[in-house]
Amino acid sequence: MPESPEVQALVEFLDERVEGRVIDELEVAEFRIVKTRDRPPVSVVGARVAGVRRFGKHIGFETTAGWLMIGFGRNGWIRWQEAGGPPNDQPVPEVARIVLDDGAVMRIVETGDFLAVTASVVDLPTDVAGIAALGPDPLSPDFSRDDLERALGMRRKQIKALLQEQTSLAGIGNAYSDEILHRAKLLPAAHAAVLDSNERERLFHATVDIMRGAVADRRGLPPDRLKQAKVEAMAIHGRGGSPCPVCGTTIVDLVFGGASAQMCPHCQAEQPRE
Ligand SMILES: [Zn+2]
Repeated sequence: MPESPEVQALVEFLDERVEGRVIDELEVAEFRIVKTRDRPPVSVVGARVAGVRRFGKHIGFETTAGWLMIGFGRNGWIRWQEAGGPPNDQPVPEVARIVLDDGAVMRIVETGDFLAVTASVVDLPTDVAGIAALGPDPLSPDFSRDDLERALGMRRKQIKALLQEQTSLAGIGNAYSDEILHRAKLLPAAHAAVLDSNERERLFHATVDIMRGAVADRRGLPPDRLKQAKVEAMAIHGRGGSPCPVCGTTIVDLVFGGASAQMCPHCQAEQPRE
């Protein structure tokens, strides 16, 4: 699933290349992705792109005909084909394609079994309900300890689920929540309400360090290398059965919210409480 560090790297890559370009063609191959039927994606054909921005895990193309917003769901992505470059004949599950006036092509793909990519054209990004409801973003320079505190509160919700809840914190998914909890030495299933002030402080620093560190590492990579770079950078997530890079204990697999998650039973052991 794309999470905010990879989406941020994608947005920066695209922004450098599409700013100022005119959208020459936009073909939708899978009409179920269109969420604004009165204003279909084709309505931005002929518009000039002012820039590309990230909103949580969504991206938005600001154009002279409104914002074209793309949600990736679990398995969506954008493949980039350079202007004048060799045509990419690789068969991909393309749901839409955008051709720019210099000949560059963006192919929006969905590699999952379940179609979750969305496309909307709106006046403002917050006209998309999922974006209006986004919580504070740990990649934002003004993300604060208070922002995290508001997300956690005294909620009786497991912190791994809470970290992935987009209305509480924007941009974190299954993989980075495992990495954050390992860094913070916290049990994924612990409820937010039981965390003491030291644990909350650790969670804040782990969240910011993991997410910002990932952006710094991914920045500059081409879009088709980002997923693999993310997989390779994981210390804990996806590494069940391997030694923990901190203590050497075997990493264990969990099923959490229907997805596979991992933790280190030594680093993330339950702390005794008074
Ligand atoms: Zn460990």
